[in-house]
Amino acid sequence: MSTPPYDVERIREDFPILSREVHGRPLVYLDNAATTQKPRAVIDRISRYYAEENANVHRGVHVLSAEGTEAFEAARQSVASFIGAPSPREVVFTRGTTEGINLVAHGFSAAVLQPGDEIVVTGLEHHANIVPWQMAAERTGATLRVLPMTPEGDLATDALADVIGERTRIVCVSHTSNALGSVSPVAEVIEAARAAGAAVLVDGAQATPHAPVDVQALGADFFVFSGHKTYGPMGVGVLWGREDWLDRLPPYQGGGDMIDQVTFERTTFAGLPSKFEAGTPNVAGVLGLEAAVQYLTAIGMEVIQAHEADLVAYCVERLADLGGVRFVGTPRQRASAVSFLLEGIHPYDAGTVLDRLGIAVRTGQHCAQPVMDAMGIDGTVRASVALYNTRSEIDALCAGLEQVQTMFS
Ligand code: PMP
Repeated sequence: MSTPPYDVERIREDFPILSREVHGRPLVYLDNAATTQKPRAVIDRISRYYAEENANVHRGVHVLSAEGTEAFEAARQSVASFIGAPSPREVVFTRGTTEGINLVAHGFSAAVLQPGDEIVVTGLEHHANIVPWQMAAERTGATLRVLPMTPEGDLATDALADVIGERTRIVCVSHTSNALGSVSPVAEVIEAARAAGAAVLVDGAQATPHAPVDVQALGADFFVFSGHKTYGPMGVGVLWGREDWLDRLPPYQGGGDMIDQVTFERTTFAGLPSKFEAGTPNVAGVLGLEAAVQYLTAIGMEVIQAHEADLVAYCVERLADLGGVRFVGTPRQRASAVSFLLEGIHPYDAGTVLDRLGIAVRTGQHCAQPVMDAMGIDGTVRASVALYNTRSEIDALCAGLEQVQTMFS
């Protein structure tokens, strides 16, 4: 039996927002690296939770609370399966990628890092995978080291041996750069970290929406992502960590749900994953995220990846044909995002004109100032695709950019 063709028009019907207009034009949404739109399945799941199921979890004997707890823990299992985690005990719900990284950085500050230790980040990181580590270094006397990127926007893997050494305690690397779309050779980085006895945290914020993820095959120690970039709700995210590491790290926040026994003299903590989930969780968010991963699984991440690879290649080709386009980053492997500049035109001007045409792109530094500094620029125009985008939307982007060029020539 042959696989049915990817029916993008059918998929678009699942996303109510895609039928709205902006400035009287059909919305062309190409800002998916910032956040993805939500399918009806996610929107309906959240609204059903509040309409029919709302209760606090983990605390009540009444039916709604018991059902809520069951649904919440079933969602943890769904998320574990989606990322190939061996056990739901290793899946911690957070507010998003940022909180997941802060949780690990806090734990490392308290339980691992000593003066003179080294933390390695890369030149391609989002601020969320830099600043918490800088703060950890300041707290502990550790040093932050940087694996640089090449002028093309790839990781300079030939510098791995210089940067990662016996003092390295953790290597923090993004799977895919939000600023340039570069897919990093994470396996190579992990191998170098392993050889040095260092832990690895993979920032998967731009991985989970675009490619199949299997944390066991990846071989990292920590993997973080955000629900809202993976077609799920805002305010929910996931930290996966190896059980031995999560056991070793202390709690991030104290409060209800994360304890075993509390007296005024002493508190003992709950086991995993509750130890890291103080207070009332974002239950609706978690259930919405479950709906998102089920939606993605039903389509198939490989199928989505192939559709997006076609769009990205088409986008690069069309932009090159346009003339007057400078690509910022020409990485060996790219996912979703294409960053560029129109010669002589400020990215904000381009973004503003595109917006008037109903086309949403992102302009600026993309929370990756060191990437922009290394490229010697202030910012870029970034188009980033998702599973519902089409070739004709790329055509609309290019037609819009032609208008920008005419206006500013
Ligand atoms: N890392 C990367 C690679 C990202 O793209 C983002 C969001 N742009 C983040 C981290 C931070 O994610 P959040 O704001 O959802 O916590």
